[in-house]
Amino acid sequence: MTSQEIKSLTNQYVMNTYGRFDVVIDHGKGAKLYSPEGKEYIDFTSGIGVCDLGYGDETWAQAVFAQAKQVGHTSNLFYTEPCARLAEKLCKRTGMSNVFFANGGGEANEGMIKLARKYSFDKYGKGRATIIPLKNSFHGRTMATLTATGQDQFHNYFFPFVEGFKFAEANSLDSLKAVAGDDTCAVMMELVQGEGGVLPLDKEYVQAVAKLCAEKDWLLLVDEVQTGVGRTGSLLAFQQYGILPDVCSFAKGIAGGLPMSGIMANEKCKGVLTPGTHATTFGANPVCGAAGLVVQDVLSDEFLAQVREKGEYLRAQIEALCLPCFGKTRGLGLMIGIEMAEGYKNGEIANKLVEAGLLVLTAGPGMRLLPPLVITKEEMDAGIAIMKKTLG
Ligand code: PLP
Repeated sequence: MTSQEIKSLTNQYVMNTYGRFDVVIDHGKGAKLYSPEGKEYIDFTSGIGVCDLGYGDETWAQAVFAQAKQVGHTSNLFYTEPCARLAEKLCKRTGMSNVFFANGGGEANEGMIKLARKYSFDKYGKGRATIIPLKNSFHGRTMATLTATGQDQFHNYFFPFVEGFKFAEANSLDSLKAVAGDDTCAVMMELVQGEGGVLPLDKEYVQAVAKLCAEKDWLLLVDEVQTGVGRTGSLLAFQQYGILPDVCSFAKGIAGGLPMSGIMANEKCKGVLTPGTHATTFGANPVCGAAGLVVQDVLSDEFLAQVREKGEYLRAQIEALCLPCFGKTRGLGLMIGIEMAEGYKNGEIANKLVEAGLLVLTAGPGMRLLPPLVITKEEMDAGIAIMKKTLG
């Protein structure tokens, strides 16, 4: 089919809930994507932080194919090998104790919220179920995670919301203390607020929150849906913050392009969710598990160090362009935010870049870059050259 035919069919038969770019993707290789007519794009988005191995990775594709042939789905009524091995790897590499596998980020965060409330109910009974997320956060589009999302722009139309959430200012321990009370059971945060504009939290603040949570027996819930699986230059971002959360979620990059997510609990919380309290039909899918094992093999400590270096290189190159539309860059690893200069709109700049062959994202009022973790220096330089030519 041609690009035009694919767009027409989509617009007629798929619900119009996404503000799509005028781009049709047919295939990819490394960090490059191509339209059906062969137009080339340098990809600084990786399917919104998902395709950490880029496109067309032979080992990943072979593992997916082999597992799909062997057995594609079984349900959680039976044991299978791939997710057992993946869970072991994730726990051994992070210090967490066990894993629940789900399918998407919002769903994983639902599980995290349920675990926190059950922990508190089991120990303290009713009336201690309030979760404190941060303002400007993003935790998903399901009803509870939408409620936990601290940005009003996402809240229109969908009232009434789930009870039991109160918001604190990011990076303010005083704000957290002022909001917390006898009803508090957990604090929930992204260590780098992604959709909110790529805003890394202060390390001292995060460590102080972890200490306070331990003192009060509130669970510290870390949403690693966007920051996790190597994106920030460590397997999980909390490893760079010197904390061990009670529960964390992960999703996006975990299976390198297949829908998979999950939560991990520490030793204190590993037995909270018991048979019948939480489940999902597609969770722990063996094909996703096999794909996840390939991703884990690639994300060695040496590779993660390269992710940090690449992130620094890309930021330095962007700042060196001194483009009139851009302000400062910020972020962690290959999760990069770019401030907009006064008078420029992120959406307009993104459209110009995409038209010129560089795929980028927006977040909050700025730009956001989430390139495949395997991106090469040549591919980064090609993207920078497009920025210079288009916006210089
Ligand atoms: N949490 C964070 C931090 C996210 O960035 C996202 C999505 O971007 C979500 C949760 C929701 O994930 P999903 O879209 O897979 O449900």
